Amino acid sequence: MCELGTLEKCNEEVQVCKKCGEINYDGVNFCQHCGDMLVDLTYVFCNICGTKNFTANKYCDECNIKL
Ligand SMILES: [Zn+2]
Ligand SMILES: [Zn+2]
Repeated sequence: MCELGTLEKCNEEVQVCKKCGEINYDGVNFCQHCGDMLVDLTYVFCNICGTKNFTANKYCDECNIKL
């Protein structure tokens, strides 16, 4: 899915494991490295700065990147 020149777009489609930091690609619910659940019903972690945001937020509180 990730092609040259579309890295920025790809970044929005990955989920970074909050436990081990492994980058997991869109469509997986569990970390491919440690098996930790990636889908948090209360919070979502910014892929760019790692700030914890409420899932209702569309943009990161810290860096305003699209969550
Ligand atoms: Zn992990
Ligand atoms: Zn952020």
